[in-house]
Amino acid sequence: MLLEGRVAFVTGAASGIGAAGAKAMAREGATVVLADRDQPKVEQVALALRQEGCKAEAIALDVSDDAALRKAITDAAGRHGRLDILHSHVGIQVEGALEQVAVEDMDASWAINVRSHFVAAQAALAPMRRQGGGSIIITSSNSGVQYDRGMIAYATTKHAVLAMTRQMAADYAKEGIRFNALCPGFVDTPFNQGFEVQMGGREKLETYISSAIPMGRFGTVEEIADGILFLASDRSSFMTGHALVIDGGECI
Ligand code: NAD
Repeated sequence: MLLEGRVAFVTGAASGIGAAGAKAMAREGATVVLADRDQPKVEQVALALRQEGCKAEAIALDVSDDAALRKAITDAAGRHGRLDILHSHVGIQVEGALEQVAVEDMDASWAINVRSHFVAAQAALAPMRRQGGGSIIITSSNSGVQYDRGMIAYATTKHAVLAMTRQMAADYAKEGIRFNALCPGFVDTPFNQGFEVQMGGREKLETYISSAIPMGRFGTVEEIADGILFLASDRSSFMTGHALVIDGGECI
């Protein structure tokens, strides 16, 4: 198994891409700590994994709480004796162009899409340094490598977190701590509810997906989980500072 003996910490693990990545890592032998602010849901995901024979535990966590985020990561590393993988995944999408986005919503986007990843990565450094390396995966988006229409808060913060990931990769490469950004395109999860409204409903969203995405469809969470597994494991051992775009060709 690819991740036997490894310990992984995943935020936003109760649903969608975060859950799929956590499941994929657990099924490859990792002990996975699944963190999410939706406690009942994250407990269900962890329980289902344990019932399959995987090693998984759930914790309730809101990543906007710096102290709680730091403590959850430090405690997980302490409890399991190491931390090999951090997938810092939670993000928010505030729709709108410059005139439509309130300053408070821009601040909220920075707090979750950039700041929470900074805090999480900072907390993961000490245990990873002690054991001589690790893999930190930060979820950006293909909106981190291209420009959307009417999404100033999202596209700006997703570009920023990609820049931060590359900076951290350069700073810690010599210590064997790898930092890569996960950049999915459209994946059919509850995350796109706001965009669906912005587009004018489900039917319009589906028409948009079939015409705007060269492959003509949404990605599946399993297709993104394959990328997570690659970045988490030694299969990507010579890769750091990379933006792994998985988007059906949207940003070509
Ligand atoms: P999702 O809605 O299925 O899951 C998001 C999870 O995050 C939920 O379980 C939710 O409870 C949890 N969460 C939200 N805010 C939280 C907080 N403050 N603290 C802790 N947990 C919190 O969404 P998803 O699509 O699987 O993942 C969203 C992430 O993926 C975001 O970073 C987003 O930018 C990125 N992304 C998604 C898509 C897509 O099309 N779905 C595309 C590109 C990037």
